Amino acid sequence: MRKVAWSRLTILRVIGISLLIMVMIGWWFKKDPALIGKFQKLVSPSDTVAPRKWVLESRKLYTMCGHTVSKRTEYQLEKPFKSVIVNHSRQIVKENDGLYVYYEENQDLCDSCLKNQFLGIEGQRIAVYRGTPDKPGPIMEKIALNLNKLPEAEIEDLKKGIPFKDGKEKLHLLEGLNGLSAE
Ligand SMILES: [Zn+2]
Repeated sequence: MRKVAWSRLTILRVIGISLLIMVMIGWWFKKDPALIGKFQKLVSPSDTVAPRKWVLESRKLYTMCGHTVSKRTEYQLEKPFKSVIVNHSRQIVKENDGLYVYYEENQDLCDSCLKNQFLGIEGQRIAVYRGTPDKPGPIMEKIALNLNKLPEAEIEDLKKGIPFKDGKEKLHLLEGLNGLSAE
C-alpha cells in the first residue's frame, strides 16, 4: 500500500517537473525565436548531415557606369569549388564572413545601362542618362532647353526620371517638353 502511494507520488513529481521544463522551454523560445531553428538542428539528424553548400559570389564591376553586378553560384561538392578557388586565386578573395568572392572588371556598361535610358535633370539642363532612375548610369547627352519655362509638373517628372525605349520615343518626349517651354 505504501509502495503504491510512493510510486504515485513519483509519477506526480515527474509530471510536475516535466510541466515545469515545458514552461521553461516555452518561455525560452518566446524570448528568442531563432532558438527554434537551433533546436530543430539539434534534434533532427537529417539537418546536421545535410550537405554543406559551397558558395562563390562573383562581383563584376562595369567600369563605364560604375555598377557592380553580383551573382552567387552554389557548389554541392567541395572538390570542384576548391579547384575553382585554386585556379582563380588572384581574383578570389575570402571575405571576413567566410564568403569567397570572385572580383572581375569589365570595361563596359552593365546590362541595365545597356538596355535602359531615361531623361533627367543635371544642373540646369535636361540630360539623357543610361540606366534607370533607381540605378542611373552615365550621362550620354545634354539638351539645351529652357527649364525655367517648363511647368512644375514636367520638372517634377524629370527630377524623378522619364524612361524611354528608343530614339523615336526620346524625340517625342523632347518635342513635347520643347513645345511646353516655348509656350
Ligand atoms: Zn550600369
